[in-house]
Amino acid sequence: MDKYYYFDNNATTRISLAVSKAMAEASYYEYGNASSSYSLGLQARERVTDARKKVASLFSGEPDDIIFTSGATESNCTVIHSALKTNADRRIILTSAVEHPSVANTLKHYAEEGYVVISIPVTEAGVDLDELEQYLSRDVALMSFMAVNNETGMIFPIDEIFRCVKQFDSNIICHSDCVQAVGKANIPFSYADFLTISAHKFHGPKGIGCIYKKREVDLHPLLYGGGQEKGIRSGTENVTGIIGMGVAAAETASSLEHIEFLQRQQKKLEDALLKEGAYIVGRRADRVPGVTNVGFSGVEAYELQMQLNRKRIFVSTGSACSSNKIGISPVIRAMGVPEAYASTVRISMSKFTTEDEVDYLTETMLQLTRKLMDTQK
Ligand code: PLP
Repeated sequence: MDKYYYFDNNATTRISLAVSKAMAEASYYEYGNASSSYSLGLQARERVTDARKKVASLFSGEPDDIIFTSGATESNCTVIHSALKTNADRRIILTSAVEHPSVANTLKHYAEEGYVVISIPVTEAGVDLDELEQYLSRDVALMSFMAVNNETGMIFPIDEIFRCVKQFDSNIICHSDCVQAVGKANIPFSYADFLTISAHKFHGPKGIGCIYKKREVDLHPLLYGGGQEKGIRSGTENVTGIIGMGVAAAETASSLEHIEFLQRQQKKLEDALLKEGAYIVGRRADRVPGVTNVGFSGVEAYELQMQLNRKRIFVSTGSACSSNKIGISPVIRAMGVPEAYASTVRISMSKFTTEDEVDYLTETMLQLTRKLMDTQK
């Protein structure tokens, strides 16, 4: 493929070379079933154990706290399903108004089943912690609140939110989708019962993720079968994926020097776009580095995305996993972004992004938006 400019790292990231090599080797030589008791199986099991340790270190947890799944969608569904079973006598679910569909649509399903799902408002300033208490009651079964929003990069104060919840009632199960936090923000493990992540968002492979579970809380399975992962997640272990996730976790934990670089690139990009009249969603909020959600009055995001694509620049519109849908993202709408700017594109960088790429993006975006705004006049 000719040179391209990848700015959609919140949708997925490029697999790192070390991850790719480890997986290629393991898939060929270490193809044993990790549940088999002969040497080839035991070798696979050892690799899984080693990866589990590496992944646990992302949460400052123990290997036993990690349950591997097929990704964050499955992890989120499992945790929600489990929490409602644990607190079967309760009917209220608290969540944020800006969750990823893997949480939002799972909760929609439970709302149809009779649960009361309350979405806590999120504005561009973040969450109003003083308001939080009004949502708490002894009928709350679960609070599911993401750590970092995938569309805007906004960081939420999960430790504070969950502390408040647990102080009110320690039996309310607290879950945070931390998919977009890994390698970019602190993982909020202090008060959470469950945290969920996905390897392909931090330079690991697709189709593998995990649940981090606090030791003392129950986790009921969503899938039944051969009893792998201590009976919580049946199905033959994805050994190659797990190995890849382990390498990606170790690389992420040891390389945070790109954060400052991304902060600088983001500032440079945003300053240039603001001069052209751009509206940057959550501009003054606490955000992860390298994520900019931007709208221009009179510019249709899908049109801008297509024109950027012609220049071999890849950005997204709407939510990561539904970028082919046209229209205003429900997250942007829920946050109350002014209508004129609500058609936004999301630019998301990674540790592989270079300064030249950001410069090319900035220049091209400015040219294209000027032209698009002129055609509106
Ligand atoms: N949660 C968030 C915040 C995400 O950004 C995504 C993917 O875009 C997911 C969950 C789903 O992850 P997976 O692709 O592993 O199912």
